[in-house]
Amino acid sequence: MPLLRSGPEGLELEGVRLSDIATRFGTPTYVYSLAAMSTAFEAYRAALGGRHASICYAVKANSNLGILSAFARLGAGFDIVSGGELERVIAAGGDPARTVFSGVGKRSDEMTLALDAGIRCFNVESAAELERLNEVAARACKIAPIALRVNPDVDPRTHPYISTGLRNNKFGVAFEEALGLYRHAASLDHVRIAGIACHIGSQLLDPAPIAEAASRLIELIDALSTEAGIQLEHIDIGGGLGIRYRDEAAPSPIEYLEPVLELFSERKEEILLEPGRSLIGNAGLLLTRIEYLKLGRDRNFAIVDAAMNDLARPALYDAWHDIVAVRPHTQEFRNYDVVGPVCESGDFLGRDRSLAIAQGDLLAILSAGAYGMTMSSNYNTRPRAAEVIISSGQAHLVRRREPIASLLALESGLPDS
Ligand SMILES: *Cc1c(COP(=O)(O)O)cnc(C)c1O
Repeated sequence: MPLLRSGPEGLELEGVRLSDIATRFGTPTYVYSLAAMSTAFEAYRAALGGRHASICYAVKANSNLGILSAFARLGAGFDIVSGGELERVIAAGGDPARTVFSGVGKRSDEMTLALDAGIRCFNVESAAELERLNEVAARACKIAPIALRVNPDVDPRTHPYISTGLRNNKFGVAFEEALGLYRHAASLDHVRIAGIACHIGSQLLDPAPIAEAASRLIELIDALSTEAGIQLEHIDIGGGLGIRYRDEAAPSPIEYLEPVLELFSERKEEILLEPGRSLIGNAGLLLTRIEYLKLGRDRNFAIVDAAMNDLARPALYDAWHDIVAVRPHTQEFRNYDVVGPVCESGDFLGRDRSLAIAQGDLLAILSAGAYGMTMSSNYNTRPRAAEVIISSGQAHLVRRREPIASLLALESGLPDS
């Protein structure tokens, strides 16, 4: 992770001691570096050069209002997948007119909300959704700007759960059906065709599939123009650029985008990007304290106060996150499974990690900025972690630790019989 250094008092992020953060805000706490976010964002901007393009941060990667407001200030638009995420963008000062709405299951009320907010584009994923959107827009006396999310049927060569652009998954409109559906869209009174979209998967480490997807979309753009007289204003190539968790050779934004930009060098459509993980993943860590060490004949466990409810990726995808001692001891390295208190054997954060640690020490689980807090839950009635953003040497609390009372507040017992 960038900007993580070891100092005399242990690890520091942007010069702020993690041990101080634990003392001030407790654990488990997600800690993010604003400088790392801004460096990641600027790398995209630089890769795009002066090209007509928009970077729409994928809110689901990390939707904290502090994070969203930071990206809004850096000049990002947003990619949302629910009405709730739209409310967050608005609350954080983001611009709905620079926000695109993805997702296979948009409800009518979410469409209404997005139309009222003046969203930039609906990325429509099925014929049925297009019908509904046209009806909802008619009722609201609005015209809905749309792109069809087309499934280019290219294999992104990533984990099957996060691969989304193949023919047999639930996302997008089949490539062969897209032209017909665009023709139909052109006949509807309350939608306006603005563009075309795709998103083929996440944690992509190879730039080739995205260029392949883009070139398939270009085929469609040209067919639409010549065969149906439909001109598109933008092409949205989705997100998906991977990051280094362990030893992956993740391409830089420039390496990732170069082949795509090459394809578009003579074209005038605006390019939209929807990066999530690559903007925030390596800007955040999860700070946790060791409750107990449990040494066994076959295995040693470090039982920490963070768990799968805080960071689900290891349990869900068998994902690797680097785990480092905030202040390592000099001797007694042992191999530990780093586990949480949740009553599931899948509740691990890392397995077989060599660490020199003692009870009460702090650990940092790295590269946890994306799909960490947003995938967290209250399983085992565990209140969610606090979140802190470090900016210019100051730690800002951007989400308080959840009080147990707020977990109970929406519930009630049955009435007396
Ligand atoms: C999840 C998602 C993204 C972001 O993906 P990353 O891998 O985090 O960059 C972008 N667009 C859509 C439609 C998504 O579902």
